[in-house]
Amino acid sequence: MTINCDVAVVGGGALALAIARELRDADATITLIRPARSSRSATLAAGAMQGAFGEVTADNASSPVTDFCIATQTGFENWVGLVAQEAGAPVHITKGTFIVSSAGSAEDNANLKAIEAKLSEKKEPYQRVSPGDVPGYSPHSSVAPGPALFIEREGTVEPRQLITALTAVLMASGNVSILDDTAEQVQETADGKYRVITSHSSDVIAEKLIVAAGVHTMSLVAHLLPSDYSALRTFAGQGSALEMDNVTGAVHTVRTPNRGTACGLHVVPLSGGRVYVGATNRARHVLATGTGAPAEDVHQLLEGLIHEIGTYYSKAPLREVHFGLRPVTADNQPIIGETGREGLLLATGTHRTGILMSPRIAELVAADALGKTPAAHPFRITSQRLRNIRERDNTDLVRTAIPSALDEYLKPDGHLPYDRREGLIHLFTTMYDLAVGKNKAESERILNTIQHYPAFAALSLYNSSEKADRPTHP
Ligand SMILES: Cc1cc2nc3c(=O)[nH]c(=O)nc-3n(C[C@H](O)[C@H](O)[C@H](O)COP(=O)(O)OP(=O)(O)OC[C@H]3O[C@@H](n4cnc5c(N)ncnc54)[C@H](O)[C@@H]3O)c2cc1C
Repeated sequence: MTINCDVAVVGGGALALAIARELRDADATITLIRPARSSRSATLAAGAMQGAFGEVTADNASSPVTDFCIATQTGFENWVGLVAQEAGAPVHITKGTFIVSSAGSAEDNANLKAIEAKLSEKKEPYQRVSPGDVPGYSPHSSVAPGPALFIEREGTVEPRQLITALTAVLMASGNVSILDDTAEQVQETADGKYRVITSHSSDVIAEKLIVAAGVHTMSLVAHLLPSDYSALRTFAGQGSALEMDNVTGAVHTVRTPNRGTACGLHVVPLSGGRVYVGATNRARHVLATGTGAPAEDVHQLLEGLIHEIGTYYSKAPLREVHFGLRPVTADNQPIIGETGREGLLLATGTHRTGILMSPRIAELVAADALGKTPAAHPFRITSQRLRNIRERDNTDLVRTAIPSALDEYLKPDGHLPYDRREGLIHLFTTMYDLAVGKNKAESERILNTIQHYPAFAALSLYNSSEKADRPTHP
């Protein structure tokens, strides 16, 4: 079967559906290609917090993603309301988020401070509250929580309802057709159009092609893009989450600040008497990811929930487990809009906040596709951006990532005795410096030591933060 259309959109998550909805009023025929039963979709696994402020950390407070999220959050609830109204289907929204520095750790406290600073800077209403006043917050007695905040306008949406409603809106649009299929291959035709070959042997021929297929986006189009686009490769932030009974009748979200690369521990009230408990985030090569939540993720979430949020959850039934892959880019910023190939547009790389950003991303991509005046935004794929990714010095990033990665390994509830955490961080950092040869003199010194002492002893020397301990072989 061959389908001809003006615009083909590949993908079935929040981004692709929001983009197709944005295009439906244009004088154009649109074909959306996506499997009706999606596995590993980030959207379907998400807690879908509108976490513009809750996601702020000491490291990302001044990033363009943070500003973009804050700007989008203002109109998000209205947008969801419109989608629900058009679909005639409910899309449940909760309002109000408590953020507790639950572990009272240095990382939690620093990130909570960064959140409060951003709230003040943007004049967003919030209150400081005592952890004891957070409804449903009842951790184990060994937990010594730090301060807590309540952000009344920061809420959540139910992503599975949002996808159902967006799909209903598209089905009712005269110029949108939905193909229940998977794009296997994308080609350029002799007359400069795009051909999408699907797994059920359909050919979709389109003037313009928008690919918003989550973690699979770049692999579908890489062969069509200029060679310097290889800098845009994506990997997966593998995430798991749970659904439990809402045993306290919670009406607000309770979360910790972000931890490491994950969006903290969060408990989000859902309709139907349940809560969503999220979420893990483990960096994976897309091809190395499985299809279901690993036991270690479920273990980590349950341990965190019962120990840090409410011991009473130990008796609550576990109803469902979610699993999805967040699309992550090399510069941790989304990839939005036109590419170096005319008529080929992309929307991906949204990592932890793609549902929140989807209405604004949809506007930007639709404007590009329809040739409207290009809107300014920080995530255009420019040659400067590609160069920045290729040429950046990752040393500082790696140095901040090593402690986060180590803390991730130590979950759930793990700790090392004495100053071993610092020692391990030091060892990893030393190994990194050695691998990249950043500091030539230091690299030679380390190599010299390792070559002249038994390897085990030599490595142990670097498992220490005390420089003076480290001998140099003459
Ligand atoms: C556990 C977890 C928690 C999260 N929490 C939040 C949160 O609180 N707030 C927030 O804003 N964001 C959150 N996110 C991030 C957010 O979910 C993502 O950034 C966003 O959903 C990405 O949307 P997407 O449409 O790009 O990708 P996806 O939702 O992954 O959708 C990709 C779609 O493309 C389809 N597809 C793939 N390959 C093909 C192909 N070859 N042909 C056709 N279709 C294809 C898939 O079937 C799928 O439907 C979370 C993510 C996870 C995993």
